[in-house]
Amino acid sequence: MTSLDHERWMRVKGRLRTEVGEEIFSSWFTRLDLDGIENGSVRMSVPTRFLKSWLQTQYGSRLLSCWQTEDGDVRRIDIRVRSAVRPPAVEKACALAGDAAGSNNAHVADRARGAAIGPIISAHESFGGSPLDQRLTFENFIVGRCNALAHAAARQVAAARRGEPVVFNPFYVHSGVGLGKTHLLQAVTFAGNGGGDRKVLYLTAERFMYGFVSALRAQTAIAFKESLRGIDVLVIDDLQFLQGKSMQAEFSHTLNSLIDAGRQVVVAADRPPADMESLDERVRSRLAGGLVVELGALGEDLRLEIVKARVAAVRQYHGSFDVPPPVLAYIARCVTQNGRDLEGALTRLLAQSKFNGQAVTMELAEREVRDLIRPQEPRRVKIEEIQRIVALHYNVSRSDLLSSRRTANVVRPRQVAMYLAKSLTLRSLPEIGRRFGGRDHTTVLHAVRKIELLLGKDASLAQDVDALRRRLQE
Ligand code: ADP
Ligand code: MG
Repeated sequence: MTSLDHERWMRVKGRLRTEVGEEIFSSWFTRLDLDGIENGSVRMSVPTRFLKSWLQTQYGSRLLSCWQTEDGDVRRIDIRVRSAVRPPAVEKACALAGDAAGSNNAHVADRARGAAIGPIISAHESFGGSPLDQRLTFENFIVGRCNALAHAAARQVAAARRGEPVVFNPFYVHSGVGLGKTHLLQAVTFAGNGGGDRKVLYLTAERFMYGFVSALRAQTAIAFKESLRGIDVLVIDDLQFLQGKSMQAEFSHTLNSLIDAGRQVVVAADRPPADMESLDERVRSRLAGGLVVELGALGEDLRLEIVKARVAAVRQYHGSFDVPPPVLAYIARCVTQNGRDLEGALTRLLAQSKFNGQAVTMELAEREVRDLIRPQEPRRVKIEEIQRIVALHYNVSRSDLLSSRRTANVVRPRQVAMYLAKSLTLRSLPEIGRRFGGRDHTTVLHAVRKIELLLGKDASLAQDVDALRRRLQE
């Protein structure tokens, strides 16, 4: 692929993003890669069969037309499923060097755990579950303020026995990317399948949909449903990817019948239940009816613990990999984004030390991790919070904002709140309308335009909006 092709692809992506909206774009298109362009055919790839058939059926013609706008010679799009690439030696070394960090018996512990986990994984996958990562266990999960509650609940869910009353149901974890949701969910799956008599099934939302689609095709949908209902704990990861009316209906049936039968359901998603726009109201409220916990950003102490544990684990295999404490502290301090970036930073240092024989110094660390140091991600702002803060500021009540009252003292604050909801969250206009007492999306659009217009003319309004925005983002 040439750099020209790459640039074109960037522009096509930009166009797609504008056409389908941020939400859909990030759900479906971020894992679509360009492999090359030849003789009018664009070769692209995705990681799963499900994604391939979904993109082809739902977005095939749009994808083609976006490409054609960019390049009139394009005649067709071929999407293939990328085979799982084998991780390079270094990553594999990191991956293998599981937990037991800090323990003197790390080797022994590691082998013992491997022996226990191996059969669990294969049993799990033959049952139709999504693949599990052996490292994502409770032993390797470091607990701090930001995740203590979620961790405690997950432990409890994993330790429960068949027939015991289910306390937190569903148990719903949400957070931004890389903060440990998948880690916790897989830990629940390992631990739950370990000793007792329960069957725990871990499925990504995509796997869940794929299971249905293929069962329907093979006319075994009833059997698939029965098998889902026969498990004790259903763990669903990345629920935000569940799309389509029929999938929602199936998910909703599964959820209800499991919960009603006293089985445990565990869910992770990138947002709270109320913000799962693609789900219908009943499913949302059922999800919100259990224990909902947000995983907070990893604090610096916790990041340092994670980095230390990873280094100790890697050292089991690469004894010469020595990261001086100031470098550890530097990484923990600067790489703030999420657990994945921390891991990425260490992998790079390991590669330099192993393949180039370089000692890990501050200079090396500064050079290698530079691009992982990003400005703090803006805080996720919630619509409720916007309503609360705006109401407070204008001395009206939140229910005034949601009401149908049209007096001047509530109309302007309501418009400001809608404007902030549009500019500070990724929510769509209809969704914002719904959250403002069931208003139409045109009302929201009108409010947004009105405030945009006024901001240029009315200095005191501009000041108010600015202050509110800062307040919400701090
Ligand atoms: P998410 O599913 O929320 O996007 P992951 O569970 O995939 O995040 O976590 C990303 C990486 O960070 C994983 O390698 C995970 O092991 C690591 N990680 C996140 N939180 C913790 C934690 N509390 N302790 C140890 N590792 C963590
Ligand atoms: Mg995840």
